[in-house]
Amino acid sequence: MKFIRLLNTALFGLGLCSLAFAAEPLVVAHRGYWKTDGSAQNSLRAIVKADSVGCFGSEFDVWITGDDSLVVNHDSSINDIVIETATAREVLSQKLENGEYVPTLDAYFRQARNLPGLRLICELKPHVSNEREAKAIKGILELAHKYQLEDRIDYITFSRNGFVQLCKEVPEGTPVYYLTGDFIPEQIKFYKGSGIDYSLWTMRRHPEWFDECHKLGLKVNVWTVNDPADMQWCIDHGADFITTNEPEVLQNLLKTASEIK
Ligand code: MG
Repeated sequence: MKFIRLLNTALFGLGLCSLAFAAEPLVVAHRGYWKTDGSAQNSLRAIVKADSVGCFGSEFDVWITGDDSLVVNHDSSINDIVIETATAREVLSQKLENGEYVPTLDAYFRQARNLPGLRLICELKPHVSNEREAKAIKGILELAHKYQLEDRIDYITFSRNGFVQLCKEVPEGTPVYYLTGDFIPEQIKFYKGSGIDYSLWTMRRHPEWFDECHKLGLKVNVWTVNDPADMQWCIDHGADFITTNEPEVLQNLLKTASEIK
């Protein structure tokens, strides 16, 4: 498992992954692997856990605080503290469900440096203005450079502005995916995105987008797929990645399928 993941990671970096393992989607832990002892969504523990079970990637959410610090959290607020207008001091003093404090992106990247086989799926949250998103993007890219993680990160976002800006500003070859589901594959290609990262609900309505994306050289990630029947539907339609809260369920499904072959 570890060898295949490292091979996938290496091939992915060279843009060859789809050639090597076209039939098998890669497993992305949604907000890290948090449905396990001692973990919590977007905690440092969650990326360690995602790595420990051999996930290809681990997804996490990034906000910029009112005083320009990058922090990892899913919701726009935590314990009624609105991240975009709060100070870093206020946000970082809040605890997650596993007892950790809300992590900075700096701490997240430092932890990730010790997990070289794990791909980082970095979600830029939609902020109140294009200016705040620009500031967040600048900070994220600087931190990725600082920790030499540039070739291990995919960027995703629901923000149209964020998507377009990320496509322009990331280092060449860095994958950028759009999450909202309101761009057809040709639009993703137009903006030089790497593919779609759309909800299961969206892909059920547009199953033709799997093939359309692949014909355009784009990849398809589907979120958040937790039911084995839905996972199988994504596998059958040729998803390149599946984002899930149940990475071990998906891994077992893929393992069983490869054993039957
Ligand atoms: Mg997210």
